[in-house]
Amino acid sequence: MKRDADVIVVGAGAAGLMTALRAAENGARTLLLDSQERLGSKILVSGGGRCNVTNRDVTERHFHTSGPVGVVRRVLQQFTDAETRRFFEAMGVPLKLEETGKYFPVSDSARSVLDALLDANAAAGVQLRQGQKARSVAPEGEGWAVATGDRTWRGKAVVLCTGGLSLPRTGSDGSGYAFATARGHTMVRTCPALTPLRGPGGWPADLRGITLPVQLRLYVNGKRRAEYAGSFLFTHFGYSGPAPLNLSRHYIREGWESEALRVGIGFLPGWSPERVTDWWAQRAAQSPKRAVSNVLDELLPARLAEALCELNEVPGDLPLGQTPKGERNRLLHSLTQFDLPVAGYLGYEKAEVTAGGIVLNEVDANTMASKLAPGLFLAGEILDIDGWLGGYNFQWAWSTGTVAGRGAAAYTGR
Ligand SMILES: Cc1cc2nc3c(=O)[nH]c(=O)nc-3n(C[C@H](O)[C@H](O)[C@H](O)COP(=O)(O)OP(=O)(O)OC[C@H]3O[C@@H](n4cnc5c(N)ncnc54)[C@H](O)[C@@H]3O)c2cc1C
Repeated sequence: MKRDADVIVVGAGAAGLMTALRAAENGARTLLLDSQERLGSKILVSGGGRCNVTNRDVTERHFHTSGPVGVVRRVLQQFTDAETRRFFEAMGVPLKLEETGKYFPVSDSARSVLDALLDANAAAGVQLRQGQKARSVAPEGEGWAVATGDRTWRGKAVVLCTGGLSLPRTGSDGSGYAFATARGHTMVRTCPALTPLRGPGGWPADLRGITLPVQLRLYVNGKRRAEYAGSFLFTHFGYSGPAPLNLSRHYIREGWESEALRVGIGFLPGWSPERVTDWWAQRAAQSPKRAVSNVLDELLPARLAEALCELNEVPGDLPLGQTPKGERNRLLHSLTQFDLPVAGYLGYEKAEVTAGGIVLNEVDANTMASKLAPGLFLAGEILDIDGWLGGYNFQWAWSTGTVAGRGAAAYTGR
């Protein structure tokens, strides 16, 4: 049967665009299929429309997987964050480093990233077919057949770049998992990750819109299981910002095993309880008549200080010198070790990534080839991996895409 291509890439998100480009650059006739008519919607909304392309510091420690970290390290080594920066610069998309360690295009436009990738694919000769949702991906003779409803596409190798389940309106509906499991691959249970947490409501003051740096910790049966420092945002439904988003995957997955979860928040990152006590004692000695809320305003946004006073039943106008020891201790404790009420989390519609997926150990880290089905390759978020907030998930897409594209081209003899 005549082949449409050497390599068929299913899914034209970040990983698929990179995979197809690398396969074509390495001489393979490459076909890139996507279910959507409008490509790259997820890239366009990423990073608040600016696309956080990578990070200053990318290591395997910035990723979560149930698989071996050695696989993550090996994949990242083959296309590093530095190479990502040079790659985008060479395509006319210079990147700038922000204080947080994140790299964004100088243009501040995700569109420039998407356009550069699409242009590079076109220049490399990749055939792109939109509105082609793969219904089955199966071996056929010496190659692979991808059926998309109205027709069947044939190639020597196929690369699954269908992503996970997050932001399903962009086309990532998890359909690729079934193609891999049908070939014997194993799934690690998925859940939303990098997703906001729900609060129970009922804070004494309206804290919506307050952003501050915090230290966020997850305790399971009293033992600390995860900790993130970073920005924290009170929203109308609960909590967002880097620290809660990073913590969410732990909160969700630990919740499968245990109901004894507690989220602790330190509103003064880096401050020990002793330092807080000393700070208070100094203020109380200097100005015993100063009101409690007034002194707390030195450290916290006023509305939050007011809420903590109310929750601890300390009148904000109470003079420092007249605050009973018990109330003072409670209040000070809440500055560094407050129990944050969490009532749940937002689902895949709001999650930036999907945790879980196809077991990492079932692919060869040097090629992203399936160890179970010859000619099948996997790249991107379909795999059992999720990165921290900060450009890590795109870096995974660029790195796995590079490795898979080269690997698939080599497999076809190109
Ligand atoms: C709101 C938001 C903001 C984000 N911001 C950032 C950021 O700034 N930095 C960062 O590093 N990460 C960010 N991420 C995460 C990042 O976008 C993803 O990790 C990355 O896009 C995953 O790439 P992928 O190609 O593996 O999967 P996806 O981007 O999900 O692409 C999968 C593609 O496959 C197609 N597809 C699926 N099934 C089929 C099928 N059966 N047939 C044909 N096509 C199919 C889909 O239409 C889609 O185009 C963000 C995510 C979201 C949701």
